[in-house]
Amino acid sequence: MSIKENLSSIKSKLPEHVTLVAVSKTKPVDTIMEAYEAGHNTFGENKVQEMVEKYEEMPKDIEWHMIGHLQRNKVKYMANFVRLIHGVDNFKLLKEINKQAKKHDRVIDCLFQIKIAEEDSKFGMSTYEAKEIITSKSFSELKNIRITGVMGMATFTNNETQIKQEFNVLKQTFEDLKPLETTNFKPETISMGMSGDYQLAIACGSTMIRVGSSIFGARNYQ
Ligand SMILES: *Cc1c(COP(=O)(O)O)cnc(C)c1O
Repeated sequence: MSIKENLSSIKSKLPEHVTLVAVSKTKPVDTIMEAYEAGHNTFGENKVQEMVEKYEEMPKDIEWHMIGHLQRNKVKYMANFVRLIHGVDNFKLLKEINKQAKKHDRVIDCLFQIKIAEEDSKFGMSTYEAKEIITSKSFSELKNIRITGVMGMATFTNNETQIKQEFNVLKQTFEDLKPLETTNFKPETISMGMSGDYQLAIACGSTMIRVGSSIFGARNYQ
């Protein structure tokens, strides 16, 4: 199937409240343009430099999401355009995003990455750490960021029961944090679900799915 067909097949199955982020990492601009020309304009990348290069070449009404693990020293390269940063897992990083956003007179939306997988390799904070940050005075002073929800990655496994349990943990974290809403904590998004598990994620309360290979085909890492 073509990229256009893949997109419309996925979109036809999505409830209205679920946003599709098309994960375009490793894919060249002409491939991503096929999705853009089919009417899709929200893309996710996991490397800052790659995202910047694509941003510069591609139409400016594209919304670029940073979905990967992010180093503080890279924030400055994308602060002028990034639409949503999914992987914020510590306060120092958040402070840097705030600082760079301020230089561009912007407010950058971010998600707290919550560790839901049992694997050590997955990044993220605990619900407790997220609460500590949200309720701190130093957080309330960050005027150029807004936390709009949570993001999580399930364990890489075929065990659906386990994946479902982990998605449920993220949904519960979201519900636990929700009452803490402030001017820069506006919880509305639960980013979970990828090509292999997005239907399960939606059943567990996802409002944003990040789908790559089911749209663009398998990735070739070299
Ligand atoms: C690559 C990636 C995805 C998409 O994975 P697919 O299995 O190709 O859909 C989603 N989220 C993150 C954080 C990723 O790095």
